[in-house]
This record gives sequence, structure tokens and C-alpha cells, in this order.
Amino acid sequence: MTQDFTTTEMRDARYVMHPLTDARANLQSGSLIIDRGEGIHVYDLAGNRYIEAMAGLWSVGLGFSEPRLVEAATRQMARLPYYHPFGQKGHGPMVDLAERLVTMAPVPMSKAFFTNSGSEANDTVIKMLWYRANALGQTRRKKIISRHRAYHGITVAAGSLTGIPANHTAFDLPLPGFLHLTAPHYRRNARPGESEEDFATRLAQELEDLILREGPETIAAFFGEPVMGAGGVLVPPRTYWQKIQAVLARHDILLVADEVICGFGRTGRMFGCETYDIRPDVMVLSKQLSSSYLPISAILLNERVFEPIADQTHAIGTFGHGFTGGGHPVAAAVAIETLRIIQERGLVAHAAEVGAWMQDRLAGLAGHPLVDEVRGVGLIAAVELTPARVAGDGAWPPGALGRRAVLHLQQAGVISRAMGDALAFCPPMIIDRDGVDAIVAALRIALDACL
Ligand code: PLP
Repeated sequence: MTQDFTTTEMRDARYVMHPLTDARANLQSGSLIIDRGEGIHVYDLAGNRYIEAMAGLWSVGLGFSEPRLVEAATRQMARLPYYHPFGQKGHGPMVDLAERLVTMAPVPMSKAFFTNSGSEANDTVIKMLWYRANALGQTRRKKIISRHRAYHGITVAAGSLTGIPANHTAFDLPLPGFLHLTAPHYRRNARPGESEEDFATRLAQELEDLILREGPETIAAFFGEPVMGAGGVLVPPRTYWQKIQAVLARHDILLVADEVICGFGRTGRMFGCETYDIRPDVMVLSKQLSSSYLPISAILLNERVFEPIADQTHAIGTFGHGFTGGGHPVAAAVAIETLRIIQERGLVAHAAEVGAWMQDRLAGLAGHPLVDEVRGVGLIAAVELTPARVAGDGAWPPGALGRRAVLHLQQAGVISRAMGDALAFCPPMIIDRDGVDAIVAALRIALDACL
């Protein structure tokens, strides 16, 4: 059979290899090509409108048509379209953004280092930690602890931090020295009869046992997302972070908070670290930092991390790491404008308020026969489905129901994302209650269509 490769949908299937996608799936049906965006909506080539209930990839906080971001980019593009931060050089937007981020951090931070993506940022942090350990003469302090179902990116080191099998299988990851602990998902990982508090205590004990087994002097850091995002929107038990931090403090191990999704209002506070009272040594920021209008990421590091690195670079004359696009002036200008808008419009308080509405509305689906668990905080949530009650023979491999529900949801005008059999909801932070209600109404239709 010959295939028609004249439409954009099919030319996409013919010429584009998609990330995180079955490499042949698009050849059957073509792809959904998004043509334009407006507020919380995007439109396909035929003019069909969808609520982007994932804000793209957990990232377009200000929605898809914020003119001030376009103007900020245009102004900076005309003035200085590119400069780099290597050596003793810089430019105004990068300096302004660094100052803003360091001063708005919820704990004392010393410096900002700029990269282009969450993965690059996490790889950079790992290299900083290895470099720091060498600088301190602690040459064995190279192991990194993260969690199963964590998502920290897909480059070789960040992909090793990640704890999702699809990001490891057939890539020969994780690299040695990357250790994974149980995810703080009470419903799935608690033992029968275990309280949420006891579950959190057990996970902290698991961390301590691992540290003692490996040797505290071999551990560089613990990496964690305040709320785990791509692994399924896993909201930790209330006392989890407190207990984890107590163990890390006891063994003098650094804490890296990956705020790539949680940062800038998503959990109802400016940072996920504030929602969970986390006091990290390093923070990793991206996505909503620029509302993803342009790629940019930032690492904030405290004195404890920066000072030994600085001593070493002074001794050897250079810090041999950086990216051509790091701190790009146009992306930095867009990020500064994004942060101004978040502040001026009170979007963090708005996310808390509309987020509570969203959690409440989604919780109303808990009685639906296909819904196993609804979980979330602020404006991020997941609805976990169970195929147990689908009519028919019940032969549903893991993830199949999630994929089907996402397709029905798309037909009902809402774009979500399946993480296994859980559907994620992380809409632009500008969404209002009516927008949330429209998502939930479409979800009901989609779930009923799956029965
Ligand atoms: N860290 C977290 C928490 C993320 O959610 C992601 C991406 O979703 C990343 C890191 C990787 O970011 P990027 O896709 O920009 O490399």
C-alpha cells in the first residue's frame, strides 16, 4: 500500500522522529499538528480547539499568547540577539535574571549558573558535585541517590538519575553509581496496614540504610522533585521531606531540589520547596521560568557548594564546563518578563486558589468505576485509572487504558498526558475555574467512553 505523504500530519510521520514515542506509531495515523495557541487553548491545522491541560510539557505557565513575552523577546533580539557567559564576559539580561533568582530563592543561595534544559542543568549539577568532591579531596564522594519514578531528564547522567524504566531500557542506563530508592507513593508502595506517617518513616530509614551500606563518604547528593511529576504526579506524605532531610543532615549529604516542574507557582507556593519546607543546597529551575517560550534553565547553588568549586577553579585556572547557549540573552529577557508577570498578576496565589478548585473537582471523579486514585497539589494532579472494571475480557496491558483515555479526552477537546494508566493535569497557571470545569467535564465523557 502506498501512503499519502502530502499532508503536514503525514509529512511529520515521514520525516520527524518523535521523542518518547513509539517510532512507528505515527505512520499509521499521522500526528496531531498544533498550529497556533491562545490563552489556555491550542488549535490544530483543521481549526479544532483544545484546552492544553498539560501546559505543553508542564511548562507554559502563562498560556500560549502572552504579548509581553513576545515583546520582551523582540526588544532583546533587536538589541543584542546573542552573547555568551564564558570567561569574564556577560550581558545585562543574564545578570538581571541571576540577581532576581538568587534573591527570590526560599533559602540563601550564592550564584546562578545557566543552561538550556532541565536535563543539561541536572547533568551540570552532577558535574559540579563531582568537581566539588575532587576539590575537597573527597575523591570517593561521587554516588548520587534519587528515586524510582523520578524524572530528571534524559541525557546520560540526568537519565541515570531518572528512575523510569522506559528511559533506561535499551540505553544501558543507569550508569554505575546512581542509586534509586522507593518512590513516596503511599497508595502503591505502602505495606498493608502501614500509616502514611509510618510509610514516610520507613522510606527515610531506607535512605539511611543505603547511605550506611554504601558509606556516607561515597555519597555526593540526594536529588528529588518536591512533587514527582512525569513519574505520575506523586505527592509525598506530609512529613516525608522533613524525615529525609533529617537523614541527609545526619550524614552531611547535599540535597538538590529539582524544581523544573514545581517551580514558579505550580504547587501553590512560589517553589515546591516552600510547600514542603525543603531547604536544598542546589535548586534546578526551568520550564515555567520562561513559560517555555524559549529554552532556558538555571541552577542556584549555595555557598557550601560554590566555595569549594571556586577554590578549585582558582587553583587550576578554569571551570571547564558550559554551553554556547547558556544564559542566552533573549531567553533570559523572556524569563525576566515571565517572573515580572507572575508577580504583577499574583499568579502564585491564583494557582493556589484555582488549584484547590481543580483538586476538589477532580476528587469528585473518585467514584467513577475506572478511577483508582486522584492525587495532586496546587495546579498539578493525576487521575490514576484501573482497567479492572472495563467491559470485555479485561486484557489490558499496563498503560493501554491510559493511552485510550487520553485519545478520548483529545476527542472531547482536552490535551492530557498518560503516565502509564495515570492521566496528568497541569494546565497553564492562568486557567480559571471555568477552564477547570471544562477539563473535568471532558474527562467524565472520556472515562465513560472507555467503559
Ligand atoms: N527535571 C524535571 C523535574 C522534569 O520534569 C524534566 C522534564 O520534564 C526535566 C528535569 C528535564 O527537562 P528537559 O526536558 O528540559 O531536559
